[in-house]
Amino acid sequence: MTYEPVIGLEIHAQLLTASKIFCGCSAAFGAEPNTHVCPVCLGMPGSLPVLNRAAVDDAIRASLALGCTIHETSIFARKNYFYPDLPKGYQISQYELPLATAGLFAGVRITRVHLEEDAGKSLHEGFFDSARKTYVDFNRTGVPLIEIVTEPDLRSAGDAADFFSRLREVLVWLGVNDGNMEEGSLRCDANVSVRPGGQAALGTKAEVKNLNSFRFLQKALEHEIDRQIDVVSNGGRVVQETRLWDAGAGRTTSMRSKEEAHDYRYFPDPDLPAVIVAAERVAAIRGAMPELPDARRRRFVAEHALPEYDAHQLTQSRAVADYFEAAVAAGAPAKAASNWIMGELARTLNSDGVGIERSPVGADRLAGLIALVEKGTISGPMAKDVFEKMYATGRAAPAIVEAEGLAQIDDESAIAALIGQVVAANADAVAQYRGGKASTFGFLVGQVMKAAKGKANPKRVNELLKQTLDA
Ligand SMILES: [Zn+2]
Repeated sequence: MTYEPVIGLEIHAQLLTASKIFCGCSAAFGAEPNTHVCPVCLGMPGSLPVLNRAAVDDAIRASLALGCTIHETSIFARKNYFYPDLPKGYQISQYELPLATAGLFAGVRITRVHLEEDAGKSLHEGFFDSARKTYVDFNRTGVPLIEIVTEPDLRSAGDAADFFSRLREVLVWLGVNDGNMEEGSLRCDANVSVRPGGQAALGTKAEVKNLNSFRFLQKALEHEIDRQIDVVSNGGRVVQETRLWDAGAGRTTSMRSKEEAHDYRYFPDPDLPAVIVAAERVAAIRGAMPELPDARRRRFVAEHALPEYDAHQLTQSRAVADYFEAAVAAGAPAKAASNWIMGELARTLNSDGVGIERSPVGADRLAGLIALVEKGTISGPMAKDVFEKMYATGRAAPAIVEAEGLAQIDDESAIAALIGQVVAANADAVAQYRGGKASTFGFLVGQVMKAAKGKANPKRVNELLKQTLDA
């Protein structure tokens, strides 16, 4: 019997707004605990939430990129539960009428995208005994999130990890999320079930929480799928429950069963009016959306005749794609620009830990360097030296080549003169070549390059030497 895994994801993404979703406190990560707080996000009686318009705009942007329908009216609801990091005793979320529904992204149907506030963070110290202490940091309380829920359309752990990675890419590309999973600004839960191959009905699902990297998502799903197949094929029944991924042990463990599941007693939040999003607002946001990575990838292949691989590499971020297009606009041939950006430039920036938007060698400067190679003024290996100097000094390629006398000897008469000297000084090798020993040709090329101190254009040397010897 073969089993088919069925996977749906729930992704929480923190929106990159300056302030929290219902108050003016900073939403920035990493401040001293409990410094980004006010009566609203601390849930003080009598305080009233006011919706952050920028958070709604970001959520609309993300929803449009995921192909969703944005609803003119959506409602905030209270999701009631008790936890020390939730001072109000409820989380403001959207339930019955979410902001957006019915999308399609990377072949996976998107059920819904809704807005909500994040909870605080509990910090535990010590072990499970009398010395154990728990602290609460409310800086994160009220930070704006979107929750993205997919239909159970994924069929393997690898596909789920790929999908999550594509989703992260597009959210970062749009500038609505920073993609930082370590800091928790992008988090993923997965609903997993298995069913016998060919069966249409879904099996009982378990929810796996705390998947804060692509690798953990894939590993946790692989483990959970194997565990469920094991249970079912031994005549057992999968229990509907929430499980946690234990990265250290490499397995999922039961956190709570359905019997212990919360009854959240959702009801519309009486302190917040309905969110009304006019069609004009959606149209304006849609009109200002950047070209998305997939579209740009296809255009790079079609418009710049780049291989798929290059187009993929160059669209890893908007900054890289912009840099590439700026280099091409400055006159660089697309493939040459792509090679430099993926090669020397990426290597140097990576080793310096510098983003391409702050590259000391701008796109126009790189195009200038490539032009010198294309014209034959400098050789490829020489260009790498020039590039290093450009990177270190911020000077333009022609200035460096001129100042350091690096230009190749490209002039026909100069090369012919060098060839004349070499032919005269190596009569034996010349005679051997003319007698049919072709390998001597390489030796003679080497002699000419040596006489030129490495600066002759090798292609020109080859052509002219051949002409001279075969004459
Ligand atoms: Zn606040």
